[in-house]
Amino acid sequence: MSHPETRMKTDVLRPPFVSETLDVERIRKDFPILSRRVHGNPLIYLDSAATSQKPQAVIDALSQYYSEYNANVHRGLHTLSEEATAQFEFARKRVAEWVGGVGLDELIYTKGTTESINLVAATWGEQNIQKGDRIVLSRMEHHANLIPWLRLAEKSGAEIGYIEHHSDGTLDMDSAASVIDERTKLVALTHVSNVLGTVNPVKEVVALARRFGAVILVDGAQAIPHFSVDIPALGVDFYAFSAHKMLGPTGVGFLFGRRELLESMPPYQAGGEMIRLVTYEKATWADLPQKFEAGTPNIADVIAFGSALDYLEQLGMDSVRAHDKMLVGKTLDAFRDMEWVTVYGPDNPELHVGAVSFDVEGIHPHDLSQFLDSKGVAIRAGHHCAQPLVKSLGMGSVSRASYYIYNTLEEVDTLIDSLVEARKYFVG
Ligand code: PMP
Repeated sequence: MSHPETRMKTDVLRPPFVSETLDVERIRKDFPILSRRVHGNPLIYLDSAATSQKPQAVIDALSQYYSEYNANVHRGLHTLSEEATAQFEFARKRVAEWVGGVGLDELIYTKGTTESINLVAATWGEQNIQKGDRIVLSRMEHHANLIPWLRLAEKSGAEIGYIEHHSDGTLDMDSAASVIDERTKLVALTHVSNVLGTVNPVKEVVALARRFGAVILVDGAQAIPHFSVDIPALGVDFYAFSAHKMLGPTGVGFLFGRRELLESMPPYQAGGEMIRLVTYEKATWADLPQKFEAGTPNIADVIAFGSALDYLEQLGMDSVRAHDKMLVGKTLDAFRDMEWVTVYGPDNPELHVGAVSFDVEGIHPHDLSQFLDSKGVAIRAGHHCAQPLVKSLGMGSVSRASYYIYNTLEEVDTLIDSLVEARKYFVG
């Protein structure tokens, strides 16, 4: 493991990250949890859309921070604090380059996608959304990109408009063109749906939003783990994502915001770190990004996320994407031949990333999930924090298998075999 000072000198590569296909056998050795057994069976972890597993390098980075240079950032003038600050800010540089070379002042640390979106709703939203304005969402949003806007609409008197999607789970661009109108002040859209797996055409939606000068926020929680995202090329105003879905620790997320917008917005939280001058009467704010980073941040986890990016960079994001396409493609192929399985989302791995949601006729998803767990197979069952979407599918709950770099084609086979077994067990 490299010392902090040496790690900082690493050359940072920019997308596109080209490499060969993934050596999954080798990758799996880097993830200690994958050698675990569950109910006597080898763990088959198919729930990475909820959170990914972590490689040893990330676990080591956390431990190295606490055992070698634990100190608060931006405050102390002693060696430990300087080392911690350098690593913490180096991680910001790493992420800024990873997402296409955004400004360091345009990248705000948060605790996750949820906090990033709430930050925008509570600051830009409260300042700019008024009665009679329209906020446009899709019908496939995670609650994190739905509820903050429902609250804001209720508070401000704005209305919410929804972009429909087709029955195959792809976004209906005619609907987008008609719902984004002159009243629209904000379009908030997920890049990839955590239920349908749909990859949305963000650039096309940006073009529609720009016709009326609307601001556009993209929820990238399920996109950025799977392919390289160039935020400046997308042309969005805000982009939110989490570290824990891409090998990083929990409790760290990011908000990219266009500089002019961030500068015009009031602070989100007040306290230490986010101020320039304070008297007993008033305070003035620090420059970006500190204006939005009140309090002691999640230092260890931010630094360890830098190691997660090192790991993904070694693999190459093109290979990460190709591997996912292979796993999703194999799952969709198998499900096509199982007439008792209903798949939700595009039946095409070009348009479908990371997660495959499905229903097995005659078995409640919770029963199915428990049955699979008894075989060591971890899938997710529920509404996946997208209750209105799951309800619109005529369901209260669906099953979801989701993949990442450490999953194998053999694991997909085991999933399919276990579903056949479950069907025999529950339905006969
Ligand atoms: N948006 C989407 C599409 C997600 O899948 C998730 C996580 N399930 C979130 C937002 C929220 O992310 P976090 O819990 O890391 O804040």
